[in-house]
Amino acid sequence: MPIASVDPATGRTLETFEPMDAAAVEERVAKAARAFREHRETDFATRAALMRAAADLLDGERDTIARTMTAEMGKTFASARAEAAKCAKAMRWYADHAEELLADEHPDPADVADSGAERAVVRYRPLGVVLAVMPWNFPLWQVVRFAAPALMAGNTGLLKHASNVPRTALYLGDLFHRAGFADGCFQTLLVGSGAVEDVLRDPRVAAATLTGSEGAGRAVAAAAGDAIKPTVLELGGSDPFVVMSSAAAELDDAVSTAVTARVQNNGQSCIAAKRFIVHEDVYDAFAERFVRAMERLTVGDPMDDSTDVGPVATEQGRADLEELVEDALSRGAAALCGGGRPAALPDGWFYEPTVLAGVTDAMRIHREEAFGPVATLYRVPDLDAAVALANDTPFGLSSNVWTRDADEQRRFARDLEAGGVFFNGMTASHPALPFGGVKRSGYGRELSAQGIRAFCNVTTVWFG
Ligand code: NAP
Repeated sequence: MPIASVDPATGRTLETFEPMDAAAVEERVAKAARAFREHRETDFATRAALMRAAADLLDGERDTIARTMTAEMGKTFASARAEAAKCAKAMRWYADHAEELLADEHPDPADVADSGAERAVVRYRPLGVVLAVMPWNFPLWQVVRFAAPALMAGNTGLLKHASNVPRTALYLGDLFHRAGFADGCFQTLLVGSGAVEDVLRDPRVAAATLTGSEGAGRAVAAAAGDAIKPTVLELGGSDPFVVMSSAAAELDDAVSTAVTARVQNNGQSCIAAKRFIVHEDVYDAFAERFVRAMERLTVGDPMDDSTDVGPVATEQGRADLEELVEDALSRGAAALCGGGRPAALPDGWFYEPTVLAGVTDAMRIHREEAFGPVATLYRVPDLDAAVALANDTPFGLSSNVWTRDADEQRRFARDLEAGGVFFNGMTASHPALPFGGVKRSGYGRELSAQGIRAFCNVTTVWFG
């Protein structure tokens, strides 16, 4: 895959980049290792001041970087601006909280006395250089939610971003440098995926984090496992959005949230709700309103304020989506709306907001992730069936359930196989809440205390 910015709304190549050669990569790895030795010695107040400076720069440059993101991967300009604002917020959150999240812990001396200790301390020390392999879909946020805690913990970072967002990738390396972080603390490696393994195996690299597809996760985790280095994997998802009959009084809210949850980021979010599982008592009313709302969405130029859904980010991504829908239709599913390319938008990689009903487990879309504005709709007779269908997926990232019934809430919170259960709303990441999945959605957690401790050497300091 060439390293290039290609506008998905027009298919036009904006700029291509030469990948860095081995010598340029070596220089950056060496610099990251050197920077770690100094950065780990800085105190939290110093790091926090730098992180706040980065947040201020990002706030000031919000429109510029948002335009870059929209041009490179097609998200609407409004959502690109919101993404940049969210990044600045997360940077400030970690600037404010890192010291307390990584404070020494002092086990009760009485609890450790029989180990012969007079006392012991649990200390969170940084691990070193962390390689971040990142996807294009939230090109700023995915990186910042790793970089802010990693830098605040005293680590240094090397970013291998997706090959279709090179301008955003370069901006990120530059941002932390301009904010005042020492040279080498956070650098972009403009390389293809073939260069990842050598960097990962380099003895100066301590760990890796990857957000992306299952295939990429498997490759990076295998190499990291062989080299015995820790990884965090944030992979795909096919989150359920369950609507129970106790939500009948707020069906309009459920429908508008369902639409947003499905088409956010032009349908290309790992935590987008993708499978809509509706109790039979409210199915007809939900289906009718949901389909109507999906049909009314405006698909078009992502820079236009009136656009709800922009293009799919890559030509291949749209082709994959088309294959999934065609497979379902050929096996008996029905498209209640959409199901193809919008005729009015012949250029670029647009796809109509689509709702499929009559999906069975013989269809690929039942098990695979639909990365675009395509929803599947299922009718269930009761709670057991809803839980079973929600879990009938290889993924386990997050889940959404509309119910006001406390017993139902207890049951879903206990039984859904996912890293999140969101009631009466939609899944969204937040700096103070852990984020990550189970099953083939990956392992490890980002954000919150878990996220900053993921790349720490949790050290027992024992005093005899
Ligand atoms: P992708 O193709 O897996 O790419 C992600 C990153 O991995 C890119 O930097 C890519 O580099 C690199 N990569 C790909 N194959 C690799 C390999 N064999 N070895 C090393 N690196 C490799 O994923 P994507 O298409 O950009 O993103 C979409 C996927 O990410 C979806 O499945 C989505 O659900 C998932 N995702 C998950 C989360 C989460 O938090 N769980 C968040 C966002 C997205 P190149 O671009 O150079 O190929």
